[in-house]
Amino acid sequence: MEHKLWIDGKWQDSKGGKLMTIENPATGKKFAEVVDASREDVDRAVQAAKAAFYDGRWSRKSPGERSKIIWKLADVIEANSEAIAKLESENTGKPYEFVSLGGDVPFAVDNLRFFASAARDTHGSHAGEFMPGYTSMYRREPVGVVGQVAPWNYPFMMAAWKIGPALAAGCTIVLKPAPGTPLTTLMLADFIKEAGFPDGVVNIVTGGNDTGQAIVEHPDVRMVSLTGSTGTGKKIMKTAADTLKRVHLELGGKAPFIVFDDSDPELVAAKASMAAFMNTGQDCTAATRLYVEKSKLKVMQEAVVEAMKNVKVGLPFEDGVQMGPLISGVQKERVAGFVERAKAQGAKILTGGGTPKGLDNGYFFEPTVITNVKQDSEIVQNEVFGPVITVQEFTDEADALSKGNDVLYGLAASIFTRDIGRAMRLTSELEFGTVWVNDHLPLTSETPHGGFKQSGFGKDLSAEAIGDYQITKHVMIAQS
Ligand code: NAD
Repeated sequence: MEHKLWIDGKWQDSKGGKLMTIENPATGKKFAEVVDASREDVDRAVQAAKAAFYDGRWSRKSPGERSKIIWKLADVIEANSEAIAKLESENTGKPYEFVSLGGDVPFAVDNLRFFASAARDTHGSHAGEFMPGYTSMYRREPVGVVGQVAPWNYPFMMAAWKIGPALAAGCTIVLKPAPGTPLTTLMLADFIKEAGFPDGVVNIVTGGNDTGQAIVEHPDVRMVSLTGSTGTGKKIMKTAADTLKRVHLELGGKAPFIVFDDSDPELVAAKASMAAFMNTGQDCTAATRLYVEKSKLKVMQEAVVEAMKNVKVGLPFEDGVQMGPLISGVQKERVAGFVERAKAQGAKILTGGGTPKGLDNGYFFEPTVITNVKQDSEIVQNEVFGPVITVQEFTDEADALSKGNDVLYGLAASIFTRDIGRAMRLTSELEFGTVWVNDHLPLTSETPHGGFKQSGFGKDLSAEAIGDYQITKHVMIAQS
């Protein structure tokens, strides 16, 4: 498995690709090698997806037939949950029980079951007479071959989020996992075979950014869906302009967590800490900016600091561990750099800020709470992608709204209050794709997930995601 690419329903050798080493971030040890696919490899994968699309072996199956196979894939994944979760934890350092087996894999199964069902939902199609003597009807057709480029923070789950709606729509796929975390996506190839997908419907090429670039440049790819950083989203959009392909971009975030004085400190501490340390803060919806109404700043801040101190950090397979390492040495340096620069600008570290005791081998970083920060400072404005939350105060609703919205990103936000009117006013004014009230993080397969502003556009999850992989065709029939 390690040295091959999944093209046209078979493991195939690379032509001209190199090898990339994969490491375990909890130990820093190298433990696998995969192909860094060449342009020629990408072309072979696109040609396989193109053949599969145009001969209709997937796109012309009835929604019911597609649904059955996607559902079978969910069943096969569920039956292999432990093996997938184990490999995911080795490749990413995620706590096995708490995140991989307890969260990512079952959610991916649920996502695929949702897309299997939604494939059969025909709402929104209509026909009628809009000019005397003519009948018009709309067909929702699959876009064609889609290139899907995934990030490293939820490798397996992101693969499911990507392929689910595209397959439900009838598209065929070239999927590229992130360079450092391809292993569970490669495992998916065998499950795709077992579920009964025709050859060429899903192709998996491993590789770095150049491999991704080759997918985006390819003239036979009709659409690219990326989950990744805002910088990569901008590059992809520019490249896609040359062939005018559609782009679907799920990018970075910098979520505010806004707490009014009528909130329960215990609830705030539990939710804010969980939303800040979950997946070691490497989550695009992570709570990163805590804003507290001035009169309750001290009590809320103390409660959150206490909760962050109590997070159990450790090796992924240790009992009770809630938080593992960051993904790589580079990411650890990046996170530490943000914290150091904030300190140099006068920020105060209330807890964390360094390597947890006894965990020097991998890329561990302490759950960190920082205050004395300015709204326009780097640590408040930019995505850190580590277990780091800043704390600031606000004076009233208008101030909370203005600070909450004052970033380039617009993926997710939360408000904590018991005042329903205030919650309703703020949910309508916050410019974010998801706004929670009295919670932060939960997502469901049925509900759309995607950004406003520089967090991108297009939706993952929900029936809306399937619509993103379809084009409307108008068919007009003269009645005589
Ligand atoms: P990244 O942007 O570095 O890489 C993402 C993917 O894009 C990788 O597979 C990479 O190889 C590929 N890539 C990079 N340059 C490319 C190019 N020029 N052309 C084509 N492909 C290219 O992101 P990452 O560091 O892997 O992931 C973290 C980022 O993802 C964070 O910013 C995070 O907020 C974001 N994210 C967003 C969501 C969401 O739903 N909005 C979910 C998870 C992660």
